Amino acid sequence: MNNKPFVLTSQCSIANHFLAELRDAALQKDRMRFRRNMERLGEILAYEMSRVFSYEAKEVRTPLGEVTTPRLVEYPILVTILRAGIPFHQGFLNIFDQSDSGFIGAYREEETTSVVVNIDYVSVPPIDKRVVVIVDPMLATGNSIVDAYRLLLKRGTPSHVHVASVVSAPEGIKRLEENLSGPSSLWTCAIDEKLNPSFYIVPGLGDAGDLSYGIKQ
Ligand code: URA
Repeated sequence: MNNKPFVLTSQCSIANHFLAELRDAALQKDRMRFRRNMERLGEILAYEMSRVFSYEAKEVRTPLGEVTTPRLVEYPILVTILRAGIPFHQGFLNIFDQSDSGFIGAYREEETTSVVVNIDYVSVPPIDKRVVVIVDPMLATGNSIVDAYRLLLKRGTPSHVHVASVVSAPEGIKRLEENLSGPSSLWTCAIDEKLNPSFYIVPGLGDAGDLSYGIKQ
């Protein structure tokens, strides 16, 4: 990765409040609120990320005259990892509303000493020379993001890969630093303490997929 992670909650804003609600075990019982807070943090992080994208001056005709104003040169491609990423992805899509989206289906198999990520569904648009955002709310071991990144590189060479997460563990950040070889950056809402023996982030917020959509068999 190219530079230090951007950490949204390192400065106080309403984002800290939304993240506090996401983490709160009592409030998490309200699934609609949980998904909406994920979406809201996606919207805010997308706005922050938009500051580093390329803009070009374009003339716009208003009902009363003309003005030259910056417009986004190109919408980023938003790639999310199913299923936990869906509400966070929707937040990004609310801001980058003309973006193409890609979806990768991955599930974790917990071994005693590691987590194996199995990818069983891939649907991504052409990514060659494009700015790509990998949207995954929980950066735990980093395995699913590194696997998704490698899979994307087999299909083309993005001009830049931005990784967006809500909560990141130091172990996952290290793994990205060691494995994302091309131009890349991490944008996260918070960096937590560590992973527990089941590779969940502590204090984290729990299982983002289950909290959004219910437990799975
Ligand atoms: N996935 C989650 O949903 N939560 C974690 O803490 C780690 C991975």
